[in-house]
This record gives sequence, C-alpha cells and structure tokens, in this order.
Amino acid sequence: MKAFEELLSESAAAHGHLCPGQIVGVRMALLGMRLLGFDLPCTLPQLKKLIVFVEMDRCTGDAVAHTTGVKLGRRSLKFVDYGIMAATFVNLENGKAFRVISTEESRDLAQIYVPLETDKRQAQLAAYRLMPDRVLFRVQEVQVDLSPFDLPGPTRRKAACVQCGQVVRDHREVVIGGLPYCRPCAGEGYFRGAREVVWEDMDWSPRSPRPQEGFSPLRQERAAASRGAP
Ligand SMILES: [Zn+2]
Ligand SMILES: [Zn+2]
Repeated sequence: MKAFEELLSESAAAHGHLCPGQIVGVRMALLGMRLLGFDLPCTLPQLKKLIVFVEMDRCTGDAVAHTTGVKLGRRSLKFVDYGIMAATFVNLENGKAFRVISTEESRDLAQIYVPLETDKRQAQLAAYRLMPDRVLFRVQEVQVDLSPFDLPGPTRRKAACVQCGQVVRDHREVVIGGLPYCRPCAGEGYFRGAREVVWEDMDWSPRSPRPQEGFSPLRQERAAASRGAP
C-alpha cells in the first residue's frame, strides 16, 4: 500500500489543486479498496475486476477515479449524476460491492478536530486527515446489477438510429414502436436546437503544412455576410 500522503499528492497534482474534496476522495478510495481486499495502487488483475460508480462530478470524484485507477475509457468508471458524495466499489469477480458515503456530520465536526484553526477550509484540510473512517463515512454493502453491456471489453452491440442513422453502441438505444432511436432523437437529449455547421479550415489535419488557425463558425458566418451572402 502506498502511504496516504503520497496518494494524496499524486491525486492533487492530477486534479490541479489540493482541496478538502481530494482528501475525502483519496480516503474514500482507500476505504473502498480495503473493503474489497484490493491493493492501492491496484494490481493489473485487480484493476480488471474493479468497477467504481461515482455519484458526483466534483473534486472528490476526481480523487476516487485517480486513486483507484478506474477510467471512463476502460468502462471501469461509471458516473451517475445523483449529486451525492458517494462512490460504490464493485468486485466483478465475486459481485461484492460497497457504497461509501461521505457523511454530512464530518463537515460540522471539522472544527472540533482542529479547534485552534479559524479558517474553515484549513480546518477541513487538517480535520479530514485526522478523522477516523467511521466519522468520515457510512458504508453500505450493496448489490449492483451490471448487464453484459456495461462491462469492459469490445462493443457487444451496435444499433443504427432509424431517424438520424447514428450508430448507438452497447444497447444504449431507445426502442419506440419496435424501432431503435438514439437518445437525442427519442427526445432524451441533453441539448436542443442542433444545427450542422461548417467551419474555417475544414480541410485541416495534423499533417497540414500550415499551423491550425483558430476556427469559429461565427467568423465564417461573418465572412459570408461581408461577401454579401444571405
Ligand atoms: Zn478540488
Ligand atoms: Zn438519432
């Protein structure tokens, strides 16, 4: 096991700063790995068995992902947008899973652990290093139902949206009237008003002789306007 401070400084460097969330996240990862009986850093065989669900897109989430080594690109990191400072650590081999939840009390208790520290942030930075796990976290043993389409490995299924033609991987299509649709076409998109654009230097590639100039669809539209185009 790497020492806590070493894990913390590596995580803070990757995250961009040291913050209370880094300390909570690294400790969350340490506890999750300990509950699963995994090392930190994970050995490669352990990493292949590990899935981590992160329930918030804040500092703590970065620390949990960095410290455990799970990645979106390996499908070992799952982001579920619950707005809860919690992460679930799953051992795919035996199905064991533990959900580690950061307690709200720990925020209120920070000052008590370092009574002489008047600055709230400094108090948290110090206190989250001192608090025992049982004050910092609650832990639930949970069952996580993962489908084969959630697991690492090659794409198991592709379906083309009948409306826009976009290929949707891993069973993420929405079936309406027996036909597959991508989520945006099914009305479940996170964006609206999609409009295809052209941009300056559309022919650019990293092999182009000229360095890339800044591109802007707006500039392209302004250029068209100045030429008297409609
Ligand atoms: Zn941060
Ligand atoms: Zn579509």
